[in-house]
Amino acid sequence: MLFKTYKTTFLQELSTFYDEQEIESFFYLTLECFHNKKRIDLALDPNMEMDAMQLRRWESALAELKKEKPIQYILGETEFYGIPFLVNENTLIPRPETEELVEWIIKSTSYEIKSAKLQILDIGTGSGCIAISLAKSISNAEVFAIDISEEALATAKKNAEINEVNVDFILKNVLETENLGNTFDIIVSNPPYVRNLEKSEIKPNVLEYEPHIALFVNDNDALLFYRKIAGLAKVNLSENGILFFEINQYLGKETVELLEDLGFKNIILKNDNYGNNRMISCCL
Ligand code: GLN
Repeated sequence: MLFKTYKTTFLQELSTFYDEQEIESFFYLTLECFHNKKRIDLALDPNMEMDAMQLRRWESALAELKKEKPIQYILGETEFYGIPFLVNENTLIPRPETEELVEWIIKSTSYEIKSAKLQILDIGTGSGCIAISLAKSISNAEVFAIDISEEALATAKKNAEINEVNVDFILKNVLETENLGNTFDIIVSNPPYVRNLEKSEIKPNVLEYEPHIALFVNDNDALLFYRKIAGLAKVNLSENGILFFEINQYLGKETVELLEDLGFKNIILKNDNYGNNRMISCCL
């Protein structure tokens, strides 16, 4: 079967589920993942064909897309901050907002913290996207990352290997941690922050496939992780260290107040590219 013929079928079959631009992007992501070919390769070779076995693979991806399974889980991979990451149902799919947080941390380290070896800790690392992209971009960093999920850590370890960086991954439930056992120049976390009351805003592809343990918190204690992590940072952040959080866009003010109450200084609340309150940095 010709790829270009199959592309028409693919577009038609998914047209009731997604808009055309999104389906096109699924098509080319799959083309790249399954065949290592880019859009331009197909344009230059319009007679490119797939065999029966390849077609079966496409058909199975198509069936999963119809069930609104995220393309990143179907392909088992994605890109974050310009580097590849394996993902699966034990890890969140990294978000563009989190890339903005990573960018902010990298910029801060180049002029704010001048330590020979920069000790970094990522709490609730999931796929390892924050820890690994920081390790990749900050040459003098020594990076540690914890997570409650053994399965997520197994994926994060593979991601560190793929990207050829050293990160110390530790299986740990932060809510049951009394001391982080070290001093860190940067503590960063993108903890669960979506309240049940926000569930109606969450798309089915997220709600049905992404790990709820990484997403949701109780409506009546939505800042649980922030309180716990900030408390640990009070003990384990170095003198000139910075604590960074990704936050719930509706709880910017509340999160800032929590950090003020705990005695943090220089609290900066920053918007993401969509204009939502999305990240905070603060110091002791
Ligand atoms: N930003 C993610 C979402 O909207 C949530 C990530 C989190 O809970 N830490 O799905």
